[in-house]
Amino acid sequence: MEVLYSSTRGNGARVKASEAILKGLADDGGLFVPDRIPVLDRSLKELSEMSYQEVAYEVMKLFLTDFTEEELKNCIKRAYDEKFDTEVIAPLVEAKGAYYLELFHGATIAFKDMALSILPHLMITSARKNQIQNEIVILTATSGDTGKAALAGFAGVEGTRIIVFYPKNGVSPIQEKQMVTQKGDNTFVVGIHGNFDDAQTGVKNIFSDKELAKEMEEKGFQFSSANSINIGRLVPQIVYYVYAYAKLLKEEKVADGEVINVVVPTGNFGNILAAFYAKNMGVPVGKLICASNDNKVLYDFFATGTYDRNREFMLTTSPSMDILISSNLERLIYRIAGNDAQKNAQLMSSLSGQGKYEITAEMKEQLNDFYGNYASEAETAQTIQKLYEDCGYVIDTHTAVAACVYDKYVKETGDHAKTVIASTASPFKFTRSVMDAIDHKYDAMGDFELVDELSKIANVTVPNAIEEIRSADIVHDNVCEVGEMKQIVKDFLKI
Ligand SMILES: *Cc1c(COP(=O)(O)O)cnc(C)c1O
Repeated sequence: MEVLYSSTRGNGARVKASEAILKGLADDGGLFVPDRIPVLDRSLKELSEMSYQEVAYEVMKLFLTDFTEEELKNCIKRAYDEKFDTEVIAPLVEAKGAYYLELFHGATIAFKDMALSILPHLMITSARKNQIQNEIVILTATSGDTGKAALAGFAGVEGTRIIVFYPKNGVSPIQEKQMVTQKGDNTFVVGIHGNFDDAQTGVKNIFSDKELAKEMEEKGFQFSSANSINIGRLVPQIVYYVYAYAKLLKEEKVADGEVINVVVPTGNFGNILAAFYAKNMGVPVGKLICASNDNKVLYDFFATGTYDRNREFMLTTSPSMDILISSNLERLIYRIAGNDAQKNAQLMSSLSGQGKYEITAEMKEQLNDFYGNYASEAETAQTIQKLYEDCGYVIDTHTAVAACVYDKYVKETGDHAKTVIASTASPFKFTRSVMDAIDHKYDAMGDFELVDELSKIANVTVPNAIEEIRSADIVHDNVCEVGEMKQIVKDFLKI
């Protein structure tokens, strides 16, 4: 049965999956949502015998219903290949009673690769299906990881260009080096004087600039998005939750139908929303545990029903979660408002006007699937150190936020259901913070010395993604003010 997509702020007009992927954001500024969440048409038992690529097909075919089997399988084949350093794509590692779902085995060693290695293929397939002649310009705001993963995905892809904006002082040294060394004539990287929310708002404004869109069209360009507001990012992220359950079942870690909990270190709410979709597709998930760092706007939201971004923006050691406007939450708000676009649009306009909104008691009741908590900087560091000392397993700062919140959840509720923790980045991407958490003696070492030391103590070879940037030349050194973003885009496109 066909699944169509409509805007969370729209008039009910519906588009096909390929059109939603091409547009990224709806014209009214809303996000595309499926008109229903399809239910898996394979049993968990059947799925447990499948490879990652096969599970990906079984999940994605249900959402991207206007793609042919051949088109979709072709996209999957090109995405999940040797770019990943393990055949299983997303391994599960058991440590101290929890299952860490390692989502960082792709080209840029963060979970963004899970979706961004396939998005370019979905995008060019969508363009072909819709007879688009324009060159597609991917405009992306990044808190550090999306940028590099999108650059790696789109570099050299014919018919596309990609522009990435990142907060100049808000990403890790390795994240920045990964981005500014990106090769490819169709890539462009710019640091902005501002934080992630500024970058994201700037990009959203450029998207909804009608005049600019007209100029672009005349010159043969059109924008799309590689951010998790694009449904083509969200759908591939559902896959690994289905896959994780299937693997637990295959390895007899859970009985068929046994309910598990899922913990997700959260920023823009994309990854955890994918887990929520997986649950609604029929994966036996109990609680969705939403873990925040000191930017705990989501924790406060789940506790009080008020979303309030009027607070100080904190720079933390988990920069990919330094976000006060969690874009994908809008998809959940729309749903708990009874798929009422008007009601949702009101709340979102209050968010952009007053910086906050409050949901009704009736809406709040529907959030029972979720549990929110947060980890302070000290707690995050302690979690890394303790896990390393107890079992030798080294996790990154984002994953540590999740592990810490998971401990709090168990203490608070006594719920010992089997639990999958989304491990969203390799510790090699945040080496300094990770090593500093393990022992302050490492503070004096240089970035790459630390990389080698981490490799030694964790007994893990240095990932390719890090080896590549050791000596790579810096090819992007653009910095701009938030107000200059539009002009920079025009300059790059020469329009
Ligand atoms: C992007 C990112 C997150 C946050 O994911 P969202 O989908 O934005 O909630 C967490 N950890 C890492 C390492 C990331 O790159």
